[in-house]
Amino acid sequence: MAGAVLRGDHGGRAHLDDGGLPNGVTVFADEYPGVANLAPDLMGALRAAATEAGNDAIQFRVNSGWRSREHQNRLRRAAVAKYGSPEAAARWVATADTSAHVSGNAVDLGPDAAAWLSAHGAAYGLCQIYRNEPWHYELRPEAIEHGCPAMYPDPAHDQRMRQ
Ligand SMILES: [Zn+2]
Repeated sequence: MAGAVLRGDHGGRAHLDDGGLPNGVTVFADEYPGVANLAPDLMGALRAAATEAGNDAIQFRVNSGWRSREHQNRLRRAAVAKYGSPEAAARWVATADTSAHVSGNAVDLGPDAAAWLSAHGAAYGLCQIYRNEPWHYELRPEAIEHGCPAMYPDPAHDQRMRQ
């Protein structure tokens, strides 16, 4: 597996050590750095939700989890090229300094998991953050009691992304 080059999301290419993942990896596959380097509290919530969803025969597949700064920078450069400017790219891909993927606090899930979490995620503190990214989930522990916060239209509206 070492040295394997994988196709990342948004057209970037990444090695496993940079957080690239093969297709079909689940939230339990911690032999992959892209899964293993997720923040422990996010990981715990994901696995609890995935276990419950498994009773409905839903599998939580991870398209992207933790990413190295290098991987994030590649994605960002590809997005700037695709969308034409840093401002336009910011609606889809954060910089390495601001990305919640680089800190291990975000996960991009397959459509089955995202659909399940859109109905049941708040009970686990798992929330969709951006309206334009139905696959992107982060932990919001207060959601367990109060429900998920209102979504931002896209990441460019998120104060955390303005640094
Ligand atoms: Zn994401």
